[in-house]
Amino acid sequence: MERAVVLLSGGLDSATCLAWARAQGFACHTLAVDYGQRHRVELEAARRVARALGALEHREVAVDLRAFGGSALTAAIAVPKDRAASEMGRGIPATYVPARNTVLLALALAWAETLGATEIVAGMNAVDFSGYPDCRPEFVRAFESLARLATRAGAEGAELRVHAPLMQLDKAGIIRLGAALGADYSLTHSCYDPDEGGGACGRCDACVLRAQGFREAGIPDPTRYAAGVTPAGSR
Ligand code: ZN
Repeated sequence: MERAVVLLSGGLDSATCLAWARAQGFACHTLAVDYGQRHRVELEAARRVARALGALEHREVAVDLRAFGGSALTAAIAVPKDRAASEMGRGIPATYVPARNTVLLALALAWAETLGATEIVAGMNAVDFSGYPDCRPEFVRAFESLARLATRAGAEGAELRVHAPLMQLDKAGIIRLGAALGADYSLTHSCYDPDEGGGACGRCDACVLRAQGFREAGIPDPTRYAAGVTPAGSR
């Protein structure tokens, strides 16, 4: 059984990745990175998802990217609200965190090498957030090359692989895949700007795409919204 390190953010995409990795027969170790994201609720969601989907071990690593800021998720920059899905594909949004996926994959690689794992699984997706440069297939292939060059395991011949199973799926496709593989999306959290109790805002890009995805997939949306909020599109 191949071992895999699965990056788990607590969101819908990474939960789907874990369900996919399990379905591949990988022995899954999950990694959540506390990079200083505004909301602890994501880390709690990651723990719930890891437990529910039978991860062998779940770890949290703190690397505080607020030291550099530069993103609406790590600095005092407003999270964009009420944007149409068509608008989101244009340009690189304020929620882009500088070099985040490079940092996260590097941490996953370090743990994978320690574990003797050859598989790394992450939720990069080129469809919904086409504006994120570190979500492109070229980026994933480049990181895979780096992983083989940069590690003792790679130098000794290990075929390290980086899987991005969601790369070409839209949100509805991701939801259908995860639902078929037993992911429980009521455990996940996607909102960039939740209230203190973790209720979703219904208006940020993540909320808009998530709500639209459930609608298009024809699957009831289990998201817990903040009091008085109805998700965009259903108003
Ligand atoms: Zn939101």
